[in-house]
Amino acid sequence: MATDKFYKERQMMVQYQIRARGVKDEKVLSAMEKVPRHLFVSESLRDSAYSDSPLPAGEGQTISQPYMVAMMTEMLELKGHERVLEIGTGSGYQAAVLSVLASEVYTVERIEPLALKAERLLKDLGYLNVHVHVGDGTLGLPEYAPFDAIIVTAASPKVQETYVKQLKLNGRLVIPVGERYTQVISLTKKTPSGIVTSTSTPCVFVPLIGKNGWSEEDAN
Ligand code: SAH
Repeated sequence: MATDKFYKERQMMVQYQIRARGVKDEKVLSAMEKVPRHLFVSESLRDSAYSDSPLPAGEGQTISQPYMVAMMTEMLELKGHERVLEIGTGSGYQAAVLSVLASEVYTVERIEPLALKAERLLKDLGYLNVHVHVGDGTLGLPEYAPFDAIIVTAASPKVQETYVKQLKLNGRLVIPVGERYTQVISLTKKTPSGIVTSTSTPCVFVPLIGKNGWSEEDAN
């Protein structure tokens, strides 16, 4: 995988878009260098796969900018043994990055065709520790909880209590929180002395649609 024709572009992406902006976790940087992002976009977009921007992922959804993927992943502080939950499978790209860095990855997507496509691709590429579920991810995945880390890759109107409940002690939740068209990345830690939340980078994600998110009408 490391020697495909985009390898050089991936190295440049890591160097100039990700490392240069302050992502330091070598494991994250190495995962971003390994995962073939171009295979998670449609063929016509392959040459833009390593550009410094989000890209269409089909069904009106987007695959996040590489820096955003790296930064949010770094905030999870994965060491390798974790069970991670991702909400918003989309193309499966973020799940593939998590797959390299954690023990088991559970990912939930509400749009079935996207979920099925991502599931097949992840399997074909050998990311066998990723488990794709179709459903409303605003409910989390109670049957597989608790998780060491939860990452939500769609915008939420608030930090969801449901996710915090499904975190292990010392677990971490990363979620874009805010208005429909503008959010900030929020990090919540479940510490022995309580829940600690901080916010950082401004961002724009597609909306989290479901019981605890936006309604389909609000989202349009
Ligand atoms: N992580 C993805 C990008 C996600 S885009 C990647 O790497 O490609 C956000 C995704 O969240 C979209 O695919 C959208 O359909 C999905 N989504 C929105 N609301 C959801 C919900 N309630 N449950 C699960 N997925 C949801």
